[in-house]
Amino acid sequence: MSISPAPAAATGQSGAYATIADVERAAARLKGVAHRTPVLTSRTANALVGASLYFKAENLQRTGAFKFRGAYNAIAALDEAQRKSGVVTYSSGNHAQAIACAGGLLGVPVTVVMPQDAPAIKVAATRGYGGEVVFYDRFSESREEIGQELSDSRRLVLIPPYDHDDVLAGQGTATLELLEDTGPLDRLYVCLGGGGLLAGGLLAASRLAPDCEVIGVEPEAGNDGQQSLRKGEVVTIAVPRTIADGAMTPYLGARTFPIIRERVHDIVTVTDEELVAAMRFFAQRMKLIVEPTGCLAAAAAFAAHDEIAGKRVGVVLSGGNVDLTRFAALVGAD
Ligand SMILES: *Cc1c(COP(=O)(O)O)cnc(C)c1O
Repeated sequence: MSISPAPAAATGQSGAYATIADVERAAARLKGVAHRTPVLTSRTANALVGASLYFKAENLQRTGAFKFRGAYNAIAALDEAQRKSGVVTYSSGNHAQAIACAGGLLGVPVTVVMPQDAPAIKVAATRGYGGEVVFYDRFSESREEIGQELSDSRRLVLIPPYDHDDVLAGQGTATLELLEDTGPLDRLYVCLGGGGLLAGGLLAASRLAPDCEVIGVEPEAGNDGQQSLRKGEVVTIAVPRTIADGAMTPYLGARTFPIIRERVHDIVTVTDEELVAAMRFFAQRMKLIVEPTGCLAAAAAFAAHDEIAGKRVGVVLSGGNVDLTRFAALVGAD
């Protein structure tokens, strides 16, 4: 494991970090475009942990994950000339689909740099929305560099999956809606990869539920966020191997970490086994398909029954994109 300073934001963003005003602007742009996903409850889940759990079902969002929010917000914020030349991004899948879908809706051409081992369903979906896919090897090549090269050579605007103010502000609208629907919560669990969903969620909570303890959740195999929080600076780890493919990021963003460091209550981890147990729970009891990464926050809440007993607790289910064969293999094996 190596420790390095925060990588420079590839988009050249600098200056003041995103605020709640950016999240509110994003909410206005997304109105009538993104689904206002339901907040679901389950007596069985409540009984399991002895708390009142509120699940924000972003697995039911357009393109199957919250990423549509940030992608659409970022493309909608571009000027005419930028929209004409088009955008490029890199992603383990959900951001790619989101950018491709949002680009299609806004008439903006999209190029996507994707790992060769990205789930087939995600590659097919990106192409299905009209995106052009360029592959890379996630264990030997840098997706940031390839994205930057394409951006330079084809004059495309780079929209990274998390390290971007308009992206994280868009992601924050999921938490904004959750808190609008539930009122103040005692605690909120949000997963993190690069930290866009968490940073945006923290901004939303700062306005709607300032006393809410917001807990970030990441896979045990890839706890760079937890290490970064303890150390006070961005810690880079080797690409983690976990079933949570949406959280295989080796470091937090230069635009997300400062917001997280300032506002997050804590960052905790869960194991792949706990993710599988949560996937089973959602499928069996709530009739929901939630992808492994999408179960991070819930798995942490399920494990925290002692701490959250009697409390009102929000849980963001971040996405539901998982090949059915992979889903069956994960939930079917004992
Ligand atoms: C991208 C993604 C995450 C991680 O989001 P960040 O903004 O990178 O922290 C979590 N869950 C799902 C389903 C995702 O697609």
